[in-house]
Amino acid sequence: MKSPIPDYLRQVVENARPADSGEVAGYIEVLAKADASKMAVALATVDGKMYSAGDDEVEFSIQSISKAFVYALAIQDTGLPQVLEKVGVEPSGDAFNKLSLQRSTNRPMNPMINAGAIATHSLIVGPNATAEQRVDRILKALSRLAGRQLRVDEAVYEAELKDANRNMGLGYMLKAAGIIDGDPQEAVRGYIRQCSINVNVRDLAMMASTLCNAGVHPVSGEGIIPHQSVRQVLSVMTTCGMYDAAGDWVSNIGIPAKSGVAGGIIGALPGQVGIAVFSPKLDERGNSVRGVIMCEKLSSDMGLHMMDISQVARATVRTSAMTITGCADQPHEYVQEVPIFDLRGAVRFAGAERLTRAIVHEFSSSDTEDPGSGRYTNARAVILSFRDAYSLSDVAQRIILENIRRLRAAGRNLVVVDPTRVLKLHGDHVPEDNALRVVRDLAEARRYIGGTGCRAVSYSDSW
Ligand code: GLU
Repeated sequence: MKSPIPDYLRQVVENARPADSGEVAGYIEVLAKADASKMAVALATVDGKMYSAGDDEVEFSIQSISKAFVYALAIQDTGLPQVLEKVGVEPSGDAFNKLSLQRSTNRPMNPMINAGAIATHSLIVGPNATAEQRVDRILKALSRLAGRQLRVDEAVYEAELKDANRNMGLGYMLKAAGIIDGDPQEAVRGYIRQCSINVNVRDLAMMASTLCNAGVHPVSGEGIIPHQSVRQVLSVMTTCGMYDAAGDWVSNIGIPAKSGVAGGIIGALPGQVGIAVFSPKLDERGNSVRGVIMCEKLSSDMGLHMMDISQVARATVRTSAMTITGCADQPHEYVQEVPIFDLRGAVRFAGAERLTRAIVHEFSSSDTEDPGSGRYTNARAVILSFRDAYSLSDVAQRIILENIRRLRAAGRNLVVVDPTRVLKLHGDHVPEDNALRVVRDLAEARRYIGGTGCRAVSYSDSW
């Protein structure tokens, strides 16, 4: 059977084709001659599957999309506090090439406008590095992200350098303001070369999906961007990535994104999917007209808006009980009811809080304010099951361990069903002993609690 996804992506392209408004970026000679009929879309999952449609092999210069990745590199090379001293994170609402600095701090407003991007570029390698050294570092990193060797388009570079007065002006302004330490011309030349690196939509989707995958390349498994930088980059893409259309973009499409004047746009939905679109004609804010339409369609058809509440925390905990009877040493009269708390999915604060509430509800002495509470005040054993928990965030881990400590202090025996060991007991010095056992499944938990030969009559009860 053939996957329906490539057919769907072809529809996404055809749906946007009739939109013929906009202009190619006229201020860079080579871009002004771009074939405006070219269109493409690509989508890369965080486990490395790539889908694409349209002119997905056509190369174009990365332009401002590079700013997001170079920002990540600057954080890696210089450290986040040092980068923040030089470049802010406030949306500017101005055109991308505005000659402006933030009044109070003298910093460029953010790294996604040219002033901020030139300053960011100057932090790569070191203050006195040459344009070649910085571009070499950037080209290597972008190539690793794309999964193939990328190249600078010399024609684009020459064309842009020929008419670089505005960017050179920004360079000198940054130097005068003390934001750039080294030679401003080197910084601007390097910045323009960084913008002239050629990519296709498949390269961009893979780069975006590395951001979505917390900086780990989905195919090579290589950690390329540190976790802290990924969060910073995605935040700035969300607030400042689409030039002065950031607010419209976030409310309509809701995906952290960055666009470039050659007509490319990337979108990176954290933890889910990286997308890239391409079509050269731009709207008055500098974003690809058909690119925006394609992203709108992907977002609404596929429910990609990051503010769509797709999962409510309520579903993450289930309470049930196991009645254990017929144990070898006390064949008939022995009956024990053991509550089971079952956590599901990627558990974060809300899920762990839900678990805490469920435990308190079951174990506190019955309370008229909380009907049905205190059903298991006498239970000696408790089962916590992480069989269906995919991951525990840091705060979830800490809350759950505190619950475990308190249950133990109250003299209860805990059995943790955790075949893949998502719960890290040892890091937090919670000892595994007779009062706390980690087992692989419920049958093992039952044998541990009731002894060999016991049987279980289970009933389930969602809470
Ligand atoms: N190299 C372009 C410039 O500095 C990048 C602009 C963009 O893609 O927004 O003008």
